[in-house]
Amino acid sequence: MKIWLDGKLVNESEAKVSVFDHGLLYGDGVFEGIRFYNGRIFRLEEHIRRLFDSAKAILLNTPWTQEEVCKYTCETVAANGLTDGYIRLVITRGAGELGLNPYLCPVPSMFIIASTIKLYPDETYQNGLAIITCATRRPAPAALMPQVKSLNYLNNIMAKVEAIQANALEAVMLNEQGYVAECTGDNLFLIKNGILLTPLISDGALDGITRGVIIELAEKLGVPFKECSLTRYDIYTADECFLTGTAAEVIPVVALDRRPIGTGKPGPFTARFLKAFHELALSTGTPFA
Ligand code: PMP
Repeated sequence: MKIWLDGKLVNESEAKVSVFDHGLLYGDGVFEGIRFYNGRIFRLEEHIRRLFDSAKAILLNTPWTQEEVCKYTCETVAANGLTDGYIRLVITRGAGELGLNPYLCPVPSMFIIASTIKLYPDETYQNGLAIITCATRRPAPAALMPQVKSLNYLNNIMAKVEAIQANALEAVMLNEQGYVAECTGDNLFLIKNGILLTPLISDGALDGITRGVIIELAEKLGVPFKECSLTRYDIYTADECFLTGTAAEVIPVVALDRRPIGTGKPGPFTARFLKAFHELALSTGTPFA
């Protein structure tokens, strides 16, 4: 496997970062997960825009332009001879002194991995996930901006541990006020009385690229859409629920906290969104070869 690291494509065994890198020492950095389908990178420019917004929000100045990062991403995928897969693109603060001061890290580091990912077993896309609400809360937006896709994922990891310990594959995370924010690595959508609902970003959700695609598709499919604060009541009483994410794509949820949602089976709206998402993903994107 060839990894893009600080300007060069290197072998996996040579792809190493410093133990003084603040990405490793403090989670000081930003990243993206991006999919490619059929030889084309899905929503590449959007992902790179979000990456640069994340970097800007944490005052991480990159020496590369967005166009250059798009080009390096395409080169990395092409160098690995894959047609379908998953890209992990990371920008760290770079190596510096021990101590928090990011201004003592003069040069950021970037690496790009083109590989594959499988988040959930195939059958869960047909049968749906049974998920739980976890006790770990999303930090308030004033503590950690939810739009920043940072290397600091310990909050999500602790929530994921709760899910796994409860024999579930995902968990709903509430914010400090008790409103639904998102899941540990996916955004959440509901269907209630024919209306598509999703939590506000300001309630602690990442502004997911797949979330944005679903909102676009809602318009195309003529499904009314509303972003609003949601509680667990809204999930318990929803007709349908599904999650979205680059790695997860679109996946039905059929139960929360052992309570069936709707009929307890993936519903017709979810199926429409799932189909429309796949059609779009397989037919659009940036060619990389
Ligand atoms: N929320 C969190 C916390 C995530 O890490 C992710 C990405 N895995 C998402 C939502 C989904 O975002 P996207 O559709 O951009 O992958």
